[in-house]
Amino acid sequence: MNLQNIIREGSNYLKKNNIKSAELDSELLLSKVLKISRKKIILNQDQEVSNEIIIKFKNLVNLRASGKPIAYLIGTKAFWKYNFYVTEEVLVPRPDSELIIEKVLDITKNKSKIKVLDIGVGSGCLLLSILKEKKDFYGTGIDISKKSLEISKINALKLGISNRVKFFKSDIDNFASGKYDLVISNPPYIKSSDLKYLERDVVKFEPKIALNGGIDGVSEIRKVINKSSELMKVNGNLVLEIAFNQKTKVKQLLNKKGFYVNKIFKDYANNNRCIICTKL
Ligand code: GLN
Repeated sequence: MNLQNIIREGSNYLKKNNIKSAELDSELLLSKVLKISRKKIILNQDQEVSNEIIIKFKNLVNLRASGKPIAYLIGTKAFWKYNFYVTEEVLVPRPDSELIIEKVLDITKNKSKIKVLDIGVGSGCLLLSILKEKKDFYGTGIDISKKSLEISKINALKLGISNRVKFFKSDIDNFASGKYDLVISNPPYIKSSDLKYLERDVVKFEPKIALNGGIDGVSEIRKVINKSSELMKVNGNLVLEIAFNQKTKVKQLLNKKGFYVNKIFKDYANNNRCIICTKL
């Protein structure tokens, strides 16, 4: 079988299983198995492949058909300007979260040498993208998942910024190290009872620990706000990702802890997603 035919077979199978980006995913999976770029595959469609490759490819296609996100199957996800290494231990970076990077760059335009804390650092996509843009910022990433820290360390190394970032395994409640100019966080914010309504790929494969926001959805956001107020310098900024329906509740929590809410930004789907505030 040649590359063109194998891609078509994979893509048809994925389509039958309701995978929206079937053709692209089929190409990406073949590229993973062959260890060559997608571009090369597309340019060499007549090339024949071995049975061994076909078997490996079919295995991956079956996993994708069962809903496993393509990012976990190929081990990487593009976010902001970089490719991040990801496994099932971390959330797949979302395009909507790039809003945080955009807004952080806006509010830190004239800042230098500041200390940034990322609470629930996951793959590191937020903190590391910011450090990559701002060459004299220092970063600290904390997470309760040991695996996530291994992954963010690998990403820091790949991006060549390990010397400007430290990672700690800690719950935010037990973290009391340093004073920060900027705190960012995309904490778990889905109500426990709503987890089952998330997309199949998300529910089945992404880590609940990175999604579950407790009975009210804001249990983790509340912890982040409460502790940030202690960890931040006066006039420092807190930038949070929130769910589309949490604006009012989160504003209340912020005001109670002495934060001024500067602005709330909407994501690509026109939902409230990113909240910027200042510690008074
Ligand atoms: N945006 C994610 C989702 O919709 C949720 C991320 C989070 O809980 N922080 O799946």
